[in-house]
Amino acid sequence: MGGQVSGNPIQGQEREAAGVNDGMVVDLHIHTNRSSYCSSLGPQEMLDRAKELGLDAVAVTEHSVTRGAQIAYEMGLEQGFTVFRGIEVYTKMGDVIVFGLGGDAHYDADFQELMEEVRAKDAVAIIAHPARGYWGHHRRYKGVCPDEALQAVRLVETHNGQNTREANSAAAEIREELSVPGTGGSDAHNVSHVGKCVTVFERRFSTEEELIDELKAGRCFGTYLADLDGYRL
Ligand SMILES: [Zn+2]
Ligand SMILES: [Zn+2]
Repeated sequence: MGGQVSGNPIQGQEREAAGVNDGMVVDLHIHTNRSSYCSSLGPQEMLDRAKELGLDAVAVTEHSVTRGAQIAYEMGLEQGFTVFRGIEVYTKMGDVIVFGLGGDAHYDADFQELMEEVRAKDAVAIIAHPARGYWGHHRRYKGVCPDEALQAVRLVETHNGQNTREANSAAAEIREELSVPGTGGSDAHNVSHVGKCVTVFERRFSTEEELIDELKAGRCFGTYLADLDGYRL
Protein backbone atom coordinates (compact mmCIF):
# COMPACT_ATOMS: atom_id res chain seq x y z
CA MET A 1 0.00 0.00 0.00
CA GLY A 2 1.62 3.23 -1.14
CA GLY A 3 -0.17 5.48 1.30
CA GLN A 4 -1.35 7.72 -1.50
CA VAL A 5 -4.82 9.17 -1.34
CA SER A 6 -7.14 7.79 -3.94
CA GLY A 7 -9.62 10.28 -5.30
CA ASN A 8 -7.87 13.28 -3.78
CA PRO A 9 -10.21 16.15 -4.64
CA ILE A 10 -7.31 18.59 -4.93
CA GLN A 11 -5.26 17.79 -8.01
CA GLY A 12 -3.27 19.13 -10.92
CA GLN A 13 -3.61 22.85 -11.48
CA GLU A 14 -5.26 23.41 -8.12
CA ARG A 15 -2.31 21.88 -6.30
CA GLU A 16 0.04 23.96 -8.39
CA ALA A 17 -1.91 27.14 -7.65
CA ALA A 18 -1.64 26.36 -3.96
CA GLY A 19 2.12 26.00 -4.26
CA VAL A 20 1.90 22.36 -3.22
CA ASN A 21 3.05 20.89 -6.56
CA ASP A 22 4.79 17.59 -5.90
CA GLY A 23 4.70 17.97 -2.17
CA MET A 24 2.06 17.06 0.35
CA VAL A 25 -0.31 18.68 2.82
CA VAL A 26 -0.44 17.09 6.25
CA ASP A 27 -2.33 17.95 9.45
CA LEU A 28 0.48 17.14 11.87
CA HIS A 29 -1.29 17.50 15.23
CA ILE A 30 -4.57 15.66 15.96
CA HIS A 31 -6.12 14.14 19.09
CA THR A 32 -8.70 11.35 18.76
CA ASN A 33 -11.12 10.02 21.35
CA ARG A 34 -9.26 6.70 21.49
CA SER A 35 -6.56 8.01 23.77
CA SER A 36 -7.14 11.69 24.38
CA TYR A 37 -10.13 11.91 26.67
CA CYS A 38 -10.42 15.61 26.00
CA SER A 39 -11.22 14.81 22.32
CA SER A 40 -14.56 13.82 20.80
CA LEU A 41 -13.01 13.04 17.41
CA GLY A 42 -13.39 9.42 16.26
CA PRO A 43 -10.65 8.03 14.01
CA GLN A 44 -13.02 7.25 11.14
CA GLU A 45 -14.56 10.72 11.08
CA MET A 46 -11.03 12.13 11.18
CA LEU A 47 -10.08 10.05 8.12
CA ASP A 48 -13.29 10.96 6.27
CA ARG A 49 -12.80 14.66 6.93
CA ALA A 50 -9.12 14.58 5.96
CA LYS A 51 -9.99 12.92 2.64
CA GLU A 52 -12.83 15.37 2.03
CA LEU A 53 -10.46 18.31 2.58
CA GLY A 54 -7.89 16.85 0.19
CA LEU A 55 -5.18 16.36 2.81
CA ASP A 56 -2.48 13.89 1.81
CA ALA A 57 -1.93 12.53 5.31
CA VAL A 58 -2.56 13.21 8.99
CA ALA A 59 -0.60 12.64 12.18
CA VAL A 60 -2.29 11.49 15.38
CA THR A 61 -0.48 12.91 18.40
CA GLU A 62 -2.22 11.89 21.64
CA HIS A 63 -1.11 13.19 25.02
CA SER A 64 1.84 11.04 26.13
CA VAL A 65 0.43 7.74 24.76
CA THR A 66 0.53 6.03 21.37
CA ARG A 67 -2.55 3.78 21.40
CA GLY A 68 -4.90 6.15 19.58
CA ALA A 69 -2.31 6.80 16.90
CA GLN A 70 -1.80 3.06 16.40
CA ILE A 71 -5.56 2.50 15.97
CA ALA A 72 -5.83 5.30 13.40
CA TYR A 73 -2.65 4.10 11.65
CA GLU A 74 -4.13 0.62 11.16
CA MET A 75 -7.43 2.05 9.92
CA GLY A 76 -5.50 4.26 7.50
CA LEU A 77 -3.53 1.28 6.18
CA GLU A 78 -6.78 -0.55 5.39
CA GLN A 79 -8.16 2.50 3.59
CA GLY A 80 -5.01 3.58 1.74
CA PHE A 81 -4.65 6.82 3.68
CA THR A 82 -1.39 7.73 5.39
CA VAL A 83 -1.55 8.22 9.16
CA PHE A 84 1.68 9.04 10.98
CA ARG A 85 2.03 7.97 14.60
CA GLY A 86 3.29 10.79 16.74
CA ILE A 87 2.87 11.73 20.37
CA GLU A 88 2.41 15.02 22.20
CA VAL A 89 4.47 14.70 25.34
CA TYR A 90 3.51 16.68 28.41
CA THR A 91 6.86 17.60 29.85
CA LYS A 92 7.45 19.44 33.10
CA MET A 93 8.33 22.45 30.95
CA GLY A 94 5.76 22.32 28.16
CA ASP A 95 4.27 20.36 25.26
CA VAL A 96 6.53 18.70 22.71
CA ILE A 97 5.40 16.72 19.65
CA VAL A 98 7.66 13.77 18.88
CA PHE A 99 7.86 11.37 15.94
CA GLY A 100 9.92 8.21 16.22
CA LEU A 101 9.78 7.69 19.99
CA GLY A 102 8.40 4.21 19.40
CA GLY A 103 6.33 3.97 22.57
CA ASP A 104 4.51 5.86 25.29
CA ALA A 105 6.17 8.74 27.11
CA HIS A 106 6.23 9.50 30.81
CA TYR A 107 3.36 11.69 31.82
CA ASP A 108 5.06 14.85 33.07
CA ALA A 109 8.34 13.83 31.45
CA ASP A 110 11.53 15.66 32.25
CA PHE A 111 12.27 17.86 29.25
CA GLN A 112 16.01 17.16 29.13
CA GLU A 113 15.48 13.40 29.54
CA LEU A 114 12.98 13.46 26.70
CA MET A 115 15.46 15.27 24.49
CA GLU A 116 18.12 12.66 25.31
CA GLU A 117 15.68 9.92 24.34
CA VAL A 118 14.83 11.76 21.10
CA ARG A 119 18.52 11.95 20.22
CA ALA A 120 19.21 8.33 21.17
CA LYS A 121 16.35 7.08 19.02
CA ASP A 122 16.99 9.41 16.08
CA ALA A 123 13.51 10.73 16.62
CA VAL A 124 12.43 14.31 15.95
CA ALA A 125 10.84 16.82 18.31
CA ILE A 126 8.73 19.90 17.62
CA ILE A 127 7.90 22.62 20.15
CA ALA A 128 4.07 22.65 20.20
CA HIS A 129 2.26 26.01 20.30
CA PRO A 130 5.26 27.94 21.72
CA ALA A 131 3.43 31.22 22.15
CA ARG A 132 0.03 30.13 23.45
CA GLY A 133 -1.06 31.75 26.76
CA TYR A 134 0.95 29.06 28.51
CA TRP A 135 3.32 26.64 26.82
CA GLY A 136 2.45 23.64 28.99
CA HIS A 137 -0.29 22.40 31.28
CA HIS A 138 1.79 23.30 34.37
CA ARG A 139 1.44 26.92 33.30
CA ARG A 140 5.05 27.48 34.21
CA TYR A 141 5.96 29.46 31.13
CA LYS A 142 3.49 32.23 30.59
CA GLY A 143 3.33 33.59 27.07
CA VAL A 144 6.33 32.18 25.31
CA CYS A 145 8.30 28.98 25.70
CA PRO A 146 11.84 29.59 27.03
CA ASP A 147 14.85 29.98 24.79
CA GLU A 148 16.54 26.97 26.35
CA ALA A 149 13.79 24.68 25.00
CA LEU A 150 13.64 26.39 21.61
CA GLN A 151 17.40 26.01 21.20
CA ALA A 152 17.29 22.34 22.17
CA VAL A 153 14.52 21.45 19.70
CA ARG A 154 14.92 23.94 16.83
CA LEU A 155 11.64 23.00 15.16
CA VAL A 156 8.59 25.11 15.91
CA GLU A 157 4.85 24.63 15.42
CA THR A 158 4.02 28.01 13.90
CA HIS A 159 0.41 27.21 13.05
CA ASN A 160 -1.80 25.59 15.66
CA GLY A 161 -5.54 25.41 14.94
CA GLN A 162 -6.47 26.00 18.58
CA ASN A 163 -4.32 29.10 18.92
CA THR A 164 -5.39 32.68 18.35
CA ARG A 165 -4.04 34.38 15.21
CA GLU A 166 -1.83 36.45 17.52
CA ALA A 167 -0.32 33.37 19.16
CA ASN A 168 0.43 31.88 15.75
CA SER A 169 1.97 35.14 14.53
CA ALA A 170 4.16 35.19 17.62
CA ALA A 171 5.17 31.57 16.97
CA ALA A 172 6.02 32.45 13.37
CA GLU A 173 8.22 35.31 14.61
CA ILE A 174 10.03 32.95 16.97
CA ARG A 175 10.66 30.57 14.07
CA GLU A 176 11.99 33.37 11.92
CA GLU A 177 14.29 34.70 14.62
CA LEU A 178 15.77 31.28 15.21
CA SER A 179 15.91 30.48 11.45
CA VAL A 180 14.45 27.05 12.06
CA PRO A 181 11.74 25.13 10.20
CA GLY A 182 8.07 25.41 11.12
CA THR A 183 5.11 23.07 11.10
CA GLY A 184 1.34 23.34 11.33
CA GLY A 185 -1.39 21.17 12.78
CA SER A 186 -4.98 21.62 13.81
CA ASP A 187 -4.61 20.31 17.39
CA ALA A 188 -8.09 18.96 16.56
CA HIS A 189 -10.27 17.74 19.40
CA ASN A 190 -13.42 17.46 17.25
CA VAL A 191 -14.18 16.93 13.58
CA SER A 192 -14.71 20.60 12.75
CA HIS A 193 -11.12 21.37 13.75
CA VAL A 194 -9.46 18.86 11.38
CA GLY A 195 -7.22 20.49 8.77
CA LYS A 196 -7.51 24.05 10.05
CA CYS A 197 -3.71 24.30 10.14
CA VAL A 198 -1.36 22.07 8.17
CA THR A 199 2.24 21.41 7.28
CA VAL A 200 3.21 21.62 3.61
CA PHE A 201 6.10 19.30 2.72
CA GLU A 202 8.17 19.82 -0.41
CA ARG A 203 8.26 16.11 -1.24
CA ARG A 204 5.77 13.26 -1.24
CA PHE A 205 6.43 10.36 1.10
CA SER A 206 4.52 7.81 3.14
CA THR A 207 6.78 6.34 5.82
CA GLU A 208 7.49 7.67 9.30
CA GLU A 209 11.24 7.42 8.64
CA GLU A 210 10.81 9.78 5.69
CA LEU A 211 8.64 12.10 7.78
CA ILE A 212 11.41 12.31 10.39
CA ASP A 213 14.02 12.98 7.68
CA GLU A 214 11.93 15.70 6.03
CA LEU A 215 11.27 17.42 9.36
CA LYS A 216 14.94 17.30 10.33
CA ALA A 217 15.91 18.67 6.93
CA GLY A 218 13.35 21.43 7.33
CA ARG A 219 11.73 20.80 3.97
CA CYS A 220 8.36 22.02 5.24
CA PHE A 221 6.39 24.99 6.51
CA GLY A 222 3.25 25.57 8.53
CA THR A 223 0.16 27.41 7.26
CA TYR A 224 -3.59 27.79 7.59
CA LEU A 225 -5.29 25.48 5.09
CA ALA A 226 -7.52 28.39 4.08
CA ASP A 227 -4.39 30.26 2.92
CA LEU A 228 -3.63 27.53 0.35
CA ASP A 229 -5.54 28.40 -2.83
CA GLY A 230 -7.87 25.65 -3.95
CA TYR A 231 -8.32 24.16 -0.49
CA ARG A 232 -11.56 24.79 1.31
CA LEU A 233 -12.40 24.10 4.94
ZN1 LIG B 1 -0.49 20.93 23.66
ZN1 LIG C 1 -2.39 18.95 21.22
